[in-house]
Amino acid sequence: MIPYGRQSISQKDIDSVVEVMHSDMITQGNVVPDFEKKLSLYCAAEYGVASNNATSSLHLSCLALGVKKGDIVWTSPITFVASANCAKYCQASVDFVDVEENSGLMSVAALKKKLLHAHQENCLPKVIIAVHFSGQSCDMEAIYSLASKYDVHIIEDASHALGALYKDKPVGGCQYSDICIFSFHPVKMITTAEGGMALTNNKTLADKMCLLRNHGVVANSEIAPWYYEQQELGFNYRMPDLLAALGISQLKQLGKFLERRQGIAKFYTENLDLNKLQLLHQHSHSKSSMHLFVVLLENSESRLKLYEYLLANGVKTQVHYIPVYKQPYYKNSVRGDWPGAELFYTRVLSIPMYVDMDQENLETVTNLINNF
Ligand SMILES: *Cc1c(COP(=O)(O)O)cnc(C)c1O
Repeated sequence: MIPYGRQSISQKDIDSVVEVMHSDMITQGNVVPDFEKKLSLYCAAEYGVASNNATSSLHLSCLALGVKKGDIVWTSPITFVASANCAKYCQASVDFVDVEENSGLMSVAALKKKLLHAHQENCLPKVIIAVHFSGQSCDMEAIYSLASKYDVHIIEDASHALGALYKDKPVGGCQYSDICIFSFHPVKMITTAEGGMALTNNKTLADKMCLLRNHGVVANSEIAPWYYEQQELGFNYRMPDLLAALGISQLKQLGKFLERRQGIAKFYTENLDLNKLQLLHQHSHSKSSMHLFVVLLENSESRLKLYEYLLANGVKTQVHYIPVYKQPYYKNSVRGDWPGAELFYTRVLSIPMYVDMDQENLETVTNLINNF
């Protein structure tokens, strides 16, 4: 079966993990801080806070920004449920900003309208979580300038977008956000099996996330060499050093990974029959990491038929995403109209895109779709 996405693990990756397994510290050593330094350097951000997955990073980000009961958090409906759940963990309520029907990215026009309305109704959000769907950055400068008018914070959910550029700068530099988070789940751009990182240029936010990632506990050697104290109710969201070693090794290969993904995207773009399907709109402000290769079918019937036809021929595709407001957990607590998300959802399908996809598989998938 050809999957829609999977990890690429080299012998060097394996060796780097084994090396840490032989060391004294398999967790809470110096490999995690090294990974944090290297990733923040790559993205040109000041601080990096690694955690056990990106969902934890999103939760820590919301907590650091003070999200609490009574607050409202807005995100995109076209995302994985974690982008909304992080606000629920803080007892906040969640609402959704509609997306562009041709890219799946948060619509600046919809955001502008929603902010104006919320300002009038006195129900502005505390935080907006923008999602860089498929690896393409949202228009962060526009989103930031709108949000700043109303003192709304911004988190970037860049789970898909490590290695992407926005206005020629790496996503993750937090030029137009408070915090930007990445995921290292196996299908994402680089992997630590499970893992995530929050980047920020704000020391207070970074310190707060570090504290909450480690039970809210700090050492205080001024009192005694063994002394520690719990200042807040935190969590154990730490990333083990073993996995950080894998992350460092993977990060070294990110350039190569990006190149291969661009190559696959180029092949699809040049060879897929574009009379049958439409590709995602790519904005000129952004260079996608090509985490997902998403095609848009005519309607939900043709999407289901293509899904079933490919599955019968050994190709597993996936729908990214069912709008979060349709989930049973959410559907009774949110009300609204998201015509962009509705249309996008009926048409969207992610076809195979992963670093180790060989030419033969790429041609097989392309021919199957063209013959469908
Ligand atoms: C994968 C993903 C997450 C969650 O990442 P984990 O590391 O699995 O917790 C959050 N948001 C988006 C958009 C994702 O794709």
